[in-house]
Amino acid sequence: MAGAGPIEELAARDAYLAEAEGNVLEVADGGLLLDRTVFYARGGGQPGDVGVISWDGGEAEIVDTIRREGRPFHVLADGATSPDPGTPVIGVIDWERRYRTMKTHTALHALSGVIFRDFGAKVTGGNMEPGEARMDFELDGITVEFGQQVERKLNDELTKGYPTEVIYMARDEALKDSDLIRTKVNLIPEWVSEIRVIDIVGLDRQADGGTHVASTLEVGRVRVVKTESKGKANKRMRIRLD
Ligand SMILES: [Zn+2]
Repeated sequence: MAGAGPIEELAARDAYLAEAEGNVLEVADGGLLLDRTVFYARGGGQPGDVGVISWDGGEAEIVDTIRREGRPFHVLADGATSPDPGTPVIGVIDWERRYRTMKTHTALHALSGVIFRDFGAKVTGGNMEPGEARMDFELDGITVEFGQQVERKLNDELTKGYPTEVIYMARDEALKDSDLIRTKVNLIPEWVSEIRVIDIVGLDRQADGGTHVASTLEVGRVRVVKTESKGKANKRMRIRLD
C-alpha cells in the first residue's frame, strides 16, 4: 500500500492553491489521510481548512483539518461516506474562507511587527478565525486610545504593500536571527532542522507554518475592535477585517 513517503502538503509552498489531486492513504476515526493535500491542518493559531473531497462515484464534506501524529488529517462530516484507501481523489478547499484566513494571519504578523518596532513589546499569544483575531502583548498597560493609535499605524503600513515571502532556513542560521529569536524560534522542537519563515519584508519576520497573502495590500482595512488587560504584562487586542 501507499504510505511510505512523506505527505505532500501543498499549502506550505503555495498558499493560493485551492484544489489538488491526491490518493487516499488511510481511513480511520471519521477522517482520512491523503498522500498529497491542499488542505491546511490547524496549527500556529490558524484554523484548519474545510472543503470537499470528490472521487469517481462520490464526494464527502470535510469539516476540519487537524494534525494527528504529525500528519494532516481530514475530518469527515457526520454520516459522510469515505473513499477507500488507494482511491484517487480531488480535494477542494473552501477558498473564500481560507483567503479570509490568510488575510487575517498576515494582518496579525503585521500587527506584531508594528507593536515591536514602535513599542518594543513582544507577542505572548494569539488566535484567529477567518476575519477576526486576537493577539496578546507584553505591554504594561493598554487603553482605547492606544488601540486607535495602533490601528492607524497598522493600516498605514498595510497600504504600503510590503511583499510577504516564505523562506526556509537551517535551524542554526535561524537561531542567530534577532527577529526570529524575538518570536521564540528556540521553542521549535529540536528535530526540526529546516525552519519555515514568513518574512513581511521590512516589517516582520517570524517562524511560522501558516498561509499568508502575497502582499499586505491584499489584507485591506483592519480595525482594532477591543483592547483589554489579561493580567500584568499581558494585554490583548482584538482585530477585525473589513
Ligand atoms: Zn503566524
